[in-house]
Amino acid sequence: MKRLGSGSLVIATHNAGKLREIGALLEPYGVKCLSAGSLGLPEPAETGSTFVENALIKARASAEASGMAALADDSGLSVAALDGRPGVYTADWAERQWFEGEPGRDWFMAMGKVEGMLRERGDDVDRSAAFHCVLAIAWPDGEYAVYEGIAPGSLTWPPRGEMGFGYDPVFVPEGLDQTFAEIAPEEKHRISHRADAFAKLVAEQFGS
Ligand code: IMP
Repeated sequence: MKRLGSGSLVIATHNAGKLREIGALLEPYGVKCLSAGSLGLPEPAETGSTFVENALIKARASAEASGMAALADDSGLSVAALDGRPGVYTADWAERQWFEGEPGRDWFMAMGKVEGMLRERGDDVDRSAAFHCVLAIAWPDGEYAVYEGIAPGSLTWPPRGEMGFGYDPVFVPEGLDQTFAEIAPEEKHRISHRADAFAKLVAEQFGS
């Protein structure tokens, strides 16, 4: 298994928040994170049908264009009774074209769509769901490593809580009664799908 070691790593994101979060997680291991956005690297289309495929598409595009190791993530919500949907389309289900033609994300609409589809399946429908996070590292020589994290739980309605983002207000993680949007961010960060994937990455890449 190829390992990162200390040095520079391209984070295949154009999102400053993600870069900050990932940079802070990897700083203790001597890794200096640079963003694909700041290097002017192209953003590939996410044409995969799984989280793993999309994370690899992004990591490989940045590794090839920069000549450095690159890390990408892909995440989303899978609902058991909906055969894993919205899955890789989690963000797309919130896409709304406003009258002025400005696209925007409407998370309440997206949560309502999931709830509507669940109700069509009857009162005793299985409400289990899970957030998934895949982290992919690609090296310019074609080697790669993939780490999959999961936060199992179930869906509730109506949405509850003001913290978090996306589908957090309807997701109740296993073992708790509150939604991801009702618990403190530090607690969410301990039990989330991202934390799970990062723990696996750190154990294999930086463990002894
Ligand atoms: P991406 O990995 O940046 O493509 O994000 C996929 C989508 O999954 C996000 O836009 C969110 O809607 C959803 N998502 C991923 N992680 C979380 C989470 O922790 N809470 C709520 N929604 C999430």
